[in-house]
Amino acid sequence: MKKLICLILSLAMLFGVSALAETAPEQAIFTPGTYEAEAQGIFVPVKVQITVDENTITNVLIDATGETPELGGLAAGKLSESILLAQTPNVDVLSGATVTSNAIIKAATEALEAAGADIAVLDANRRDLGGEDTPKGEQTVDTEVVVIGAGGAGMAAAIMLHQAGKDFVLLEKMPYAGGNTTKATGGMNAAETHYQKEQGIEDSTALFAADTMKGGHALNDPALVATMANLSSDAIDWLDSIGAALPKISFSGGASVNRIHAPEDGSGVGGFLVDRFSAKLAELGVEILYNTKATELLTDGEGKICGVKAEGEDTNYTFNCKAVILATGGFGANEEMYTQYRPDLKGTVTTNAPGATGDGILMAQALGADLVDIEQIQLHPTVEQTTSMLITESVRGDGAILVNQQGVRFTNELLTRDAVSAAELAQEGQYAYILFDQNLRDHLKAIEKYVKADLTVQSDTIEGLAEQLGIDPATLAKTLADWNECVANQRDPEFGRSTGMNADLTTPPYYAIKVAPGIHHTMGGVKIDTAAQVINTEGQPIPGLFAAGEVTGGVHGGNRLGGNAVADIVIFGRIAAQSAIDYIK
Ligand code: ADP
Repeated sequence: MKKLICLILSLAMLFGVSALAETAPEQAIFTPGTYEAEAQGIFVPVKVQITVDENTITNVLIDATGETPELGGLAAGKLSESILLAQTPNVDVLSGATVTSNAIIKAATEALEAAGADIAVLDANRRDLGGEDTPKGEQTVDTEVVVIGAGGAGMAAAIMLHQAGKDFVLLEKMPYAGGNTTKATGGMNAAETHYQKEQGIEDSTALFAADTMKGGHALNDPALVATMANLSSDAIDWLDSIGAALPKISFSGGASVNRIHAPEDGSGVGGFLVDRFSAKLAELGVEILYNTKATELLTDGEGKICGVKAEGEDTNYTFNCKAVILATGGFGANEEMYTQYRPDLKGTVTTNAPGATGDGILMAQALGADLVDIEQIQLHPTVEQTTSMLITESVRGDGAILVNQQGVRFTNELLTRDAVSAAELAQEGQYAYILFDQNLRDHLKAIEKYVKADLTVQSDTIEGLAEQLGIDPATLAKTLADWNECVANQRDPEFGRSTGMNADLTTPPYYAIKVAPGIHHTMGGVKIDTAAQVINTEGQPIPGLFAAGEVTGGVHGGNRLGGNAVADIVIFGRIAAQSAIDYIK
């Protein structure tokens, strides 16, 4: 992924100094000089260096190198500008980069206090950022198709539209592309692909469909599932053709054969595809309209789609168009919305990207769209609750165990996500500790991220670890000894675990991370047919409205198999584009 520059130097001449002349207070606010402070971000301490003269913040230099490249860089740029403009550290956080933004604000506050400032006075004299009071511009744009959302589904659709020579715009409400797609780690399920054939793997689209139905507890729409399976090999060929090949095939839970296709270099499939799709769009000269949130779908007198209203940073848009592709993702980051359908999930943290707020579902519903399986929400069992960071399944797959506050195991740790989550929720306090040793850390790169983010508790002895966790040391020591015996015998008589038993947990130091279930994927959404047309509550397509990806329901039923989210976005993203192309002809 393209690295953003995280070191932003903002020139005082541009912002602060001239504004100051009008209102310079009589007493000096600061002791002139350059002051530095740092505060912990997600992964690393964020450094802020502020230069002041007697009355003005003249320069803000933020180093968020080491934070998530996209978000850290964006937060550094945005906040250095805002602090300079507002002349106080208390500025708005960047949506989607809350932890990094708060670290910047904290460090900036400390630096300014060291410069002798009273922050309350700075707040009282806050300068207008020109945001709310400045009237926005209005713009009307004529185009053929509006694609809403630049995650995997929206970008795939956009590439198809460009390849067909169509005129379109691609809207993204966040300042970056990718959405939840970026977070997909496994791969893409596809059957009868040339890669499977070359590697001697026998598979069929019928078997792929049957596995998906079984995994989804047969709640899935069989026609959508068959369509996904039948077009999966074509989608793999198409990915090849746009420089996003997924040649590495392996096994994924719920599949009868090796079917999950991943990038050659072992990188996470979501980040890889977002990177390749973005590069392709850039090569084709397609611009993504960032920070532009679609708010309403417009229809003509006959109920046909005729436009979209959207809010940009400085401009409100009306797009006149013939068709819309909704690719806005799910609603796993909208607590009010998911608790409306699942009150039992109130207070559950989410692993979702901040843009997953269900906007597309609400906009489609306003036009009478039907919803399917809307209460089907997949939980991930190992989410650290203070940061919402997902502790990858590989930690358990490589040998970690889960224990409760009593220090005992309570489940086969490698059951399906829903089953392990339910087992955790049945424990006192509704949480667990994921336990592993140095040997596992040495073999799994992902662990470094958790250690750096300070999520782990560690000790050279099991007893020491137990004490830090408030668990009875003798009980935890016995749990570990029993587990190591299971590994030695390759048998887990109590819980029947049979995988992730390649290495015992005997190499100090020992580590634990406190985890609980988090919202992971909203499987329900707007109802579509096999042509990705959005269907209304009367069973009729809404003319000109198409949808693809997590915004839709029906593909995954009651449980999504690993590898099917990416299949869904690529395959139905392409179908939605083709249907829109056929529709506007
Ligand atoms: P999918 O996997 O279905 O492609 P993603 O979550 O990856 O879904 O992507 C959905 C994208 O849509 C996200 O980048 C999100 O920020 C964007 N989005 C959501 N709502 C809107 C909206 N109202 N206007 C523009 N973009 C939106």
